[in-house]
Amino acid sequence: MSRRGASQREFSNCTKEITVGALPKKRISHRRQANRRGHHKIQIPQLTICRQCGQARLSHHVCPNCGTYRGRQVIEGRQAKAE
Ligand SMILES: [Zn+2]
Repeated sequence: MSRRGASQREFSNCTKEITVGALPKKRISHRRQANRRGHHKIQIPQLTICRQCGQARLSHHVCPNCGTYRGRQVIEGRQAKAE
């Protein structure tokens, strides 16, 4: 019988083997649960203004509008596709 995870337990009065799933060792208190879930929240994406086109873009990401990153043309942006 393994200490962790699914284990098979035999009972003397029954011939069938019953597989018991992984179970927590200790009950988690409401406070501990709340403390863990304190981090569970929606985060607002970090937006910055693009220096090339002035549109809002995600920081450390290529601008989807003009397709530049740090003043360098990297991909074909929305502007180039429209033209
Ligand atoms: Zn841009």
